[in-house]
Amino acid sequence: MTCRNLILILGDQLSANLASLKAGDPARDRILMAEVWDEATYVKHHKKKIAFIFSAMRHFAEELKAGGWPVDYVHLDEAANSQSLTGELSRAVARHHPERVIITEPGEWRVRQMLEAWADAPLDILEDDRFLCTHAEFSDWAAGRKQLRMEYFYREMRRKTGLLMDGDQPAGGKWNFDADNRKPASADLFMPRPAQVQPDQITEAVLALVGDRFADHFGDLEPFWFAVTARQAEAALDSFIADALASFGDFQDAMVRGEPFVYHSVLSAYINAGLLDPLAVCRRVEAEYRAGRVAINAAEGFIRQIIGWREYVRGIYWHTMPGYELKNALGATRALPRFYWTGDTDMTCLAEAIGQTRREAYAHHIQRLMVTGNFAMLAGIDPHQVHEWYLAVYADAYEWVELPNTVGMSQFADGGLLASKPYAAGGNYTNKMSDYCRSCRYDVKQRTGPDACPFNALYWDFLARNRETLKGNPRLGPVYRTWDRMDEAKRRETRESAAAFLAGLG
Ligand SMILES: Cc1cc2nc3c(=O)[nH]c(=O)nc-3n(C[C@H](O)[C@H](O)[C@H](O)COP(=O)(O)OP(=O)(O)OC[C@H]3O[C@@H](n4cnc5c(N)ncnc54)[C@H](O)[C@@H]3O)c2cc1C
Ligand code: SF4
Repeated sequence: MTCRNLILILGDQLSANLASLKAGDPARDRILMAEVWDEATYVKHHKKKIAFIFSAMRHFAEELKAGGWPVDYVHLDEAANSQSLTGELSRAVARHHPERVIITEPGEWRVRQMLEAWADAPLDILEDDRFLCTHAEFSDWAAGRKQLRMEYFYREMRRKTGLLMDGDQPAGGKWNFDADNRKPASADLFMPRPAQVQPDQITEAVLALVGDRFADHFGDLEPFWFAVTARQAEAALDSFIADALASFGDFQDAMVRGEPFVYHSVLSAYINAGLLDPLAVCRRVEAEYRAGRVAINAAEGFIRQIIGWREYVRGIYWHTMPGYELKNALGATRALPRFYWTGDTDMTCLAEAIGQTRREAYAHHIQRLMVTGNFAMLAGIDPHQVHEWYLAVYADAYEWVELPNTVGMSQFADGGLLASKPYAAGGNYTNKMSDYCRSCRYDVKQRTGPDACPFNALYWDFLARNRETLKGNPRLGPVYRTWDRMDEAKRRETRESAAAFLAGLG
């Protein structure tokens, strides 16, 4: 059977308002969706992440069919499945002889390259207008700037969207209320759980498939409670707004033992897969502020993450690829410790963050940045291995968003393109922002010796080791002066303690 256009929809393009769907016509065009081994295994993704994407794809295909679209849906286990995106495109072209293939631009550079190199039919790549900032707009903004700081980009996005703007002034009189958003939480606060969805028949079939075919991948498959349709994701947004948004700002940086979600939205997997529209999510949050139901620091803090950070890291990704994935400004070469896959470590902060990552395919931003990320940077782990770990283990991880967050923000491997200084900290930070240290076998107050919190000696060792590269950073001047004021014996003891710990990492 022939069709005019074949529209390929990828697993993170599950949006009814997708550019390629808006450009198409169900009466003349046909949709192709495919579950392929190559994409599910190019890093060994968390089992929950694969199940989420396959189930959300299958549900989306059903919705498209109900809306009158002819859909070719290729299941992973079909005998004829070539197990690659381009292989499935070629097979569909042979079946339907379309005049053209249409695709909304892929989020990842790798996939875009692969599709551009494919030549079995003329291919049109449409801009992904689910993002606020186009590649051209980001390039214009970045042109001629020495430093690409998120804060200035974010203000542009506020002006562009009108979000939290009173005329040309920021609502509440300031652009950024981050300074109000650093309260530590305690376990006796009530922390709501994200909305949970009971798996239906489609999801049950996917869970059986993933359990069978991806048994050697990281992470627990069940219990599986993710939303897998736009309607369910909307319900998760409703429950975040009703139960957690008001406290989101105050406790944005807090970490609590046994509380993986604190007051975070846990919406990133849904937004990134296309089940929620980021701008609509921000408008809902702004409406809560305008109605007086949440404070400005909560609404602004949340909206900044989406129209600021999320758009900004995407801009950085396309601005710097290819090449960004290999950045290693600090020359870090150590192998990723085994405990990143097992959670088996005496360091409570790491055991908590990795343990919940294994169970939920989720950790919140401060756990990713200041626990797993900070440790990897201080210990000098190869940033490419760190990148592959983050890309594999989180349900929301796609290279365009994960790579700048990992290589730039958390590892400082881009030499400061994204962050003005390394996010490096000793145990004191974790002790202030969490209750982890209270139940840790290490003593957060000690700097050296077998019982000292390893982050303390590692922090100073990191600074001393990377002095040549970092000494010109004005924000690190006072820290280096403190190090230089320490007596020689203390400095030596600190570095020996770090070396002994690192030797034990294997
Ligand atoms: C090393 C590292 C790796 C990361 N990898 C990813 C990733 O693969 N995918 C991903 O979506 N986010 C990533 N982040 C950013 C952030 O940690 C997650 O977006 C956030 O934890 C998701 O949880 P949430 O939905 O509860 O977010 P909330 O705290 O509720 O924030 C609201 C929303 O803002 C957006 N957001 C917040 N921070 C960022 C950020 N720094 N960059 C982009 N969007 C942001 C997300 O869409 C999120 O849903 C990473 C951060 C670090 C430090
Ligand atoms: S004492 Fe150190 S290792 Fe232990 S939880 Fe605190 S910061 Fe982590």
